[in-house]
Amino acid sequence: ATNSYLQRQEQRESNARSYPRRLPLALKRGQGIFVEDTEQQIFIDCLAAAGTLALGHSHPDVTAALIETVQSDVPMQTLDLMTPIKDEFMTQLLDLLPGNMADNARIQMCSPCGSDAVEAALKLAKIATGRRSILAFSGAYHGMTHGALAMMGNLGPKSALSMTGADVQIMPFPYAPRCPYGLGEAGIKASLYQLETMLTDPESGVAKPAAIIVEAVQGEAGALPADPTWLKGLRDITKRHGILLIIDEIQAGMGRTGKIFAFEHADIEPDVIVVSKALGGGQPLAAIIYHNDFDKWNPGAHAGTFRGNQLAMASGLVVMRHLAQEQLHLHAGAMGAKLKHDLEAIDSNVIGDVRGRGLMLGIEIVDPNGERDVLGNLPQDGQRAKEIQQAALRRGLIIELGGRFGSTIRMLPPLIIQSEEIDVVVAILTDAINSVA
Ligand code: PMP
Repeated sequence: ATNSYLQRQEQRESNARSYPRRLPLALKRGQGIFVEDTEQQIFIDCLAAAGTLALGHSHPDVTAALIETVQSDVPMQTLDLMTPIKDEFMTQLLDLLPGNMADNARIQMCSPCGSDAVEAALKLAKIATGRRSILAFSGAYHGMTHGALAMMGNLGPKSALSMTGADVQIMPFPYAPRCPYGLGEAGIKASLYQLETMLTDPESGVAKPAAIIVEAVQGEAGALPADPTWLKGLRDITKRHGILLIIDEIQAGMGRTGKIFAFEHADIEPDVIVVSKALGGGQPLAAIIYHNDFDKWNPGAHAGTFRGNQLAMASGLVVMRHLAQEQLHLHAGAMGAKLKHDLEAIDSNVIGDVRGRGLMLGIEIVDPNGERDVLGNLPQDGQRAKEIQQAALRRGLIIELGGRFGSTIRMLPPLIIQSEEIDVVVAILTDAINSVA
């Protein structure tokens, strides 16, 4: 470690951290898409707290809302008691739902992290159906609490710990070009056929689940978008079999993919939506939104102390206003399309795939000298991806890795990023890739 902050971090903080724990910098200031470290170096932040900072760092509207709330003498924590801020927050959240969904929707505020909201969604589905098991997908990331962890596709953090494995079925997530069912429409069809067969064949060995939980764009798995036809198929199958469809929008939601919710790309209506990260405008907040029909909670069935955080609701309201009034999601969609186009134009044999939606993009790094698999894919190369991440950091760009073996460079910049800033990001990244290729 090069400076005293980093030395003390190494001495004091546990190693059980993920996200960019290996980045050698201590942050001091943030403004827009930029952060400055304690050595006065400036970086472009394409991680933005894993996509949490939709409006970037220190957005003046967020700052003003926070100051106004602090100075207004509102009670800072109110448990589940009603307040004018909460009333406005819930009204605005329901207003963001597509079509007529708001007419039959209910909100459950959760303890302020995504994992707790996932727990709430799983419990709700179990209570509403009287069934125990949940079906999730390979690569899925739903959180670190025991129930959410059991839904995870990544065995690394899960295998020794998971308490509820028997109640979980994991199916492959059919992302082309690594779709285990084969490429294109046929692969999607085969995946849905397998699911339908699992649910109807008495000898499939699969208990009918209470819910299917899925990310419309898998985040930690490396920005893998679900095919809209496949999501529609999931909606159809779950409806016919009385299974709840839970869409985890914690990372992809709140405008990041070019729509307010990522499931809108498939034009479906889930039974439960899980939201967090950008929902609180940088302050911790989480909630589920679900169809009235499933409002079968017993009183106190999912309690929690910190669900009445007025500061988080006030700053979250700013993000929602930017979505509702200024259509920030459309800007994110346009900037994402430009970024994806420019990334696809990088000429390098270590890039195996560029994918994602809106400003949730992934660049899969491969070993160009490796052996191709049956679908023609080169092996993913996490070591090379890490070298690119470090080379980018030296050039002033913070990026995160994800996906199998950490082989995917993940781009989650603030949604307010501008076209010229994207040019700089792509120039730095191209240089970083070329420096290690
Ligand atoms: N679901 C998804 C899709 C996520 O990306 C995350 C966080 N990366 C979570 C759930 C868990 O959220 P938290 O870390 O706030 O518990």
